[in-house]
Amino acid sequence: STTIGVLAVQGDVREHLHALQACGAHAVPVRRPEELAPLHGLVVPGGESTTMDKLVRAFGLQEPLRERIADGLPVYGSCAGMIMLADRVLDGRPDQQTLGGLDITVRRNAFGRQVDSFEGEVHVEGLDAPYHAVFIRAPWVEETGPGVRVLSRVEGGPAAGRIVAVTQGALLATSFHPEVTGDTRVHRLFVQIVRSRS
Ligand code: GLN
Repeated sequence: STTIGVLAVQGDVREHLHALQACGAHAVPVRRPEELAPLHGLVVPGGESTTMDKLVRAFGLQEPLRERIADGLPVYGSCAGMIMLADRVLDGRPDQQTLGGLDITVRRNAFGRQVDSFEGEVHVEGLDAPYHAVFIRAPWVEETGPGVRVLSRVEGGPAAGRIVAVTQGALLATSFHPEVTGDTRVHRLFVQIVRSRS
């Protein structure tokens, strides 16, 4: 079967485990470097990227994760997870580091700090019908490198046109939180990426 880890140092780990299980994957929380070995894929959840970064470094996970990503491990990052996968961060903490891998520049809390969260329908390339996206202090993608494919943009309001889902190689990232809606289509998309690569 397909074993997919959820980085479990901080953030909404349990919701991702449930969504992955609903997609037929064997989902396991990951906290230690040695737990990376059996994985066919990994989810980096939403949460707080500055805290996640500190814990990833404290637990000795940064280098092993960077190596697996460079090796082609499929990774899906949601919200703070998107920030963790980004090569460049705007409005980050001065000492903030990421795992990187995605040739994108993200802006943290991009939709405005006063707008804590909002929801809306978005079209996601690869999904048959619009997706109800929940944004919580979300980043957006401000720049993409040539290898990055844009999968979704905000469709109305002041942030119209902003990029909120991307893919590059085996990496997938969304600004929004598909683990909180009960709609598992984004997780299915990721499980397909994992299966096609393992
Ligand atoms: N604002 C958070 C950060 O910068 C992300 C929010 C989230 O993951 N819901 O990490």
